[in-house]
Amino acid sequence: MIPQTDPRANYLAHKTEIDEAIAQTLMAGRYILGETVAAFEREFAAYLGVGHVIGVGSGTDALHLALRGCDIGPGSRVFTVSHTAVATVAAIELAGAQPVLVEIDPVTFTLDPQHLEDAVKTLRRRAGGAGRDAVLPVHLYGHPANMPAILEIARRYELTVIEDCAQSHGATIAGRRTGALGAIAAFSFYPTKNLAALGDGGAVATDDPALAERVRLLREYGWRERYVSAISGLNSRLDALQAAILRVKLRYLDAENARRRELARLYSELLAGSSLRLPVERGEVRHVYHQYVVRSSRRAALQAHLAATGIGTLIHYPVPVHLQPAYAGRLPLPAPLPHTEAVAREILSLPMFPELSEAQARQVAAACLDGGF
Ligand SMILES: *Cc1c(COP(=O)(O)O)cnc(C)c1O
Repeated sequence: MIPQTDPRANYLAHKTEIDEAIAQTLMAGRYILGETVAAFEREFAAYLGVGHVIGVGSGTDALHLALRGCDIGPGSRVFTVSHTAVATVAAIELAGAQPVLVEIDPVTFTLDPQHLEDAVKTLRRRAGGAGRDAVLPVHLYGHPANMPAILEIARRYELTVIEDCAQSHGATIAGRRTGALGAIAAFSFYPTKNLAALGDGGAVATDDPALAERVRLLREYGWRERYVSAISGLNSRLDALQAAILRVKLRYLDAENARRRELARLYSELLAGSSLRLPVERGEVRHVYHQYVVRSSRRAALQAHLAATGIGTLIHYPVPVHLQPAYAGRLPLPAPLPHTEAVAREILSLPMFPELSEAQARQVAAACLDGGF
């Protein structure tokens, strides 16, 4: 049996160090925020090349707090994609803003800048007014969105740029890390992500000290000083055990991303002659393969065939946000989303995690080919 992902294997790969870090944290006696969280925040900020990281309770919270930190709320539109984890859109609504779902580039599966510009123009013409609007590109599967073009559009239309980096820890464009490209960024440390806690966790990253300060207050009741709320906030804090685990795993992030890239290269080499459409790297990007996603017009048969040979796969994501019961018909679509809908019918995520062996990856590729795909 080859699983699609295996967070336990990653724990076992670093078990001695993680167990030691957990034991130390338990003995230190500070379990929420504190020095361990502050140390992780400094180390992750240095890794990203930004001035500030704020540890929070989850990736969804990180997006929500990043939006609120930028004053994006009621009256604001946030342009993002429908082909994403529902958390992206849920966070926009949590902040009180209006999500506007835009078409993707079907090759990289990320926000299409031309469609973004068309959507901004259409909505501002139709509904008027540049409120305080934002664009929220998602670096889906570990492939950075086309940030040079998105940043240029954001500059022209005065959009705040908030990056969803939940799947792109360590990915770069022209050598700069995702999370350091917009005004602010949100990370998730959900156990299957490239940088993963052993529970929920997230972080906000920014180079702007004033924004960082606002998010820091928002995550703990708006406290600047204990028990005195300077602004109205909420409770979303990273706990010390998760921070201690993340400090260990951060040291291996580059090596594990390199391993994911090696596995991706092997898959692509072995599947080159197949009928599957394979992932690409477009532009000056370093893809970190949170997922290795293929497209097939016979997706159901492919998934069933792999399952029958003991190979786990997943679909990220089977239903675009605009077609889900909670959102259908309720969110403005400035234009139809044919690529988004076609992609959702054809994508399949093959097994991908750093502990996957070369032999296992060969077995997956051979199963695809043997099945006639
Ligand atoms: C995982 C994920 C999130 C949400 O993170 P949680 O930690 O699960 O709240 C947001 N956006 C994307 C693209 C994700 O993959």
